[in-house]
Amino acid sequence: MKSRAPRLSARARRIRGGVHPPEHKHLTADRPIRRIDAPEVVILPMRQHAGAPCTPRVKRGDVVAVGTVVGDTEAFVSAPIHSSVSGTVQNVAPHPHPAGGEVLSVFVENDGEYRIDPEVHPLPWEDMGPEEIRKAVRASGMVGLGGAAFPTHVKLAPPEKYPIDTVILNGAECEPFLTADYRIMLEYAEEVVEGLRIIMKAVGAPRGIVAVEDNKPLALRRMAEVARGRDVEVLSLRTRYPQGAEKVLIANLLGREVPSGGLPMHVGVVVNNVGTARALAHYFRTGMPLVERVVTVTGSVVREPANLMVPLGTPFRAALDACGGFTEPPAKLIMGGPMMGLAQYTMEVPVVKGTSGILALSQKETEFEIPLEPVCIRCGRCVEVCPMNLVPTYLAAMAHKEKMEDLERLNVNDCIECGCCAYVCPTKNPLVQLIKAGKAELARRKVLFERRAQEAANRGSGKEGGDGGQ
Ligand code: SF4
Ligand code: SF4
Repeated sequence: MKSRAPRLSARARRIRGGVHPPEHKHLTADRPIRRIDAPEVVILPMRQHAGAPCTPRVKRGDVVAVGTVVGDTEAFVSAPIHSSVSGTVQNVAPHPHPAGGEVLSVFVENDGEYRIDPEVHPLPWEDMGPEEIRKAVRASGMVGLGGAAFPTHVKLAPPEKYPIDTVILNGAECEPFLTADYRIMLEYAEEVVEGLRIIMKAVGAPRGIVAVEDNKPLALRRMAEVARGRDVEVLSLRTRYPQGAEKVLIANLLGREVPSGGLPMHVGVVVNNVGTARALAHYFRTGMPLVERVVTVTGSVVREPANLMVPLGTPFRAALDACGGFTEPPAKLIMGGPMMGLAQYTMEVPVVKGTSGILALSQKETEFEIPLEPVCIRCGRCVEVCPMNLVPTYLAAMAHKEKMEDLERLNVNDCIECGCCAYVCPTKNPLVQLIKAGKAELARRKVLFERRAQEAANRGSGKEGGDGGQ
């Protein structure tokens, strides 16, 4: 592959719409990643990714090692789950999940020996073909570590009709408070670039870009140092939320518009997070699947905010204890950042593959009233900041009135749930909650409609019931 010199853009790339909330990154930006011990019992939910959940592959009493598969499925859009400790399966039962509800989980009692599964061995990616790399990536259980948790091997397998010319590594980390990606770029820059090159090889892309917001000059410099002499560019982005959203990133870096309802591959691009790239390189170097991740544990009421390397399945409570606990009881606990994160009702939920941060906020920070009935004064601020060119106030109103056809016509599924509209709304309308509920209801009705259509088609062709089955 032709070598291309690393390049920092002369002018940081702008974002359409967006907001610039207080960053709060100073709490952890200077805290190097610290590895914490695994707890006595790790809790491994069978759903840690977008797509089909896994089925347990172990039962109570089974002995497992670090890296042993404990859950898997035949579905393409899914990723296996591995034990992060060695020990004995204590139970397989539902447990509260940080994405909500209860999920069937494998509980492994940690024997403290950290024996490694005999299947774990380094993989020489430079000698492997794209298909071999994709298979290995699936076996690693890798998912997008930026928070979306989309299975990585699926992203690396676009249909032939969509050739990929560019891989973008997202190092924007535009969510306030979070600094895990920043620390990864500083401390694991070599692995980040190696991970990018593995992805480029898997999809056959000649161009690789690491994109970093300009509020992280040290990370920009470190990435540029490591990229020098390799076929990788490092580009700077203007600091603005949600600069790291895939479609926003592609528009700002390449001037390409992902069509409504489309995916990055439709414009020849694959986007991955810098943390995912680092974890991929680590996997190929060691053979160890995804059994740990970097988590920013932060917030005004956390005694010693930190960036931690956490074994998957560690309860939030243990990660918070490793940071000295709280200075006062938190009023709100969030998985992720304040803009797109998910509120938690218990600290017993485990760290999963998509846990980029644990954020604890005080009473004062969370005190604001949400109106019982949305009130719109038609100021237009939500429209100005929407990075997806949507009209949030209409979307919320249509969702509130359950006008599904209008929601679809207004491209509700293009909403990336960034929260910019709600952030600027002077009447504190719960725009994102309403839009999310509208999207969920639309999806539910579509599934119902398709099922009924299929049943009607089956009846018409005599596939079910009566004499037609002969
Ligand atoms: S409508 Fe969706 S994409 Fe637009 S600002 Fe609101 S949350 Fe973000
Ligand atoms: S920001 Fe709030 S008040 Fe202003 S137009 Fe949007 S929904 Fe209405």
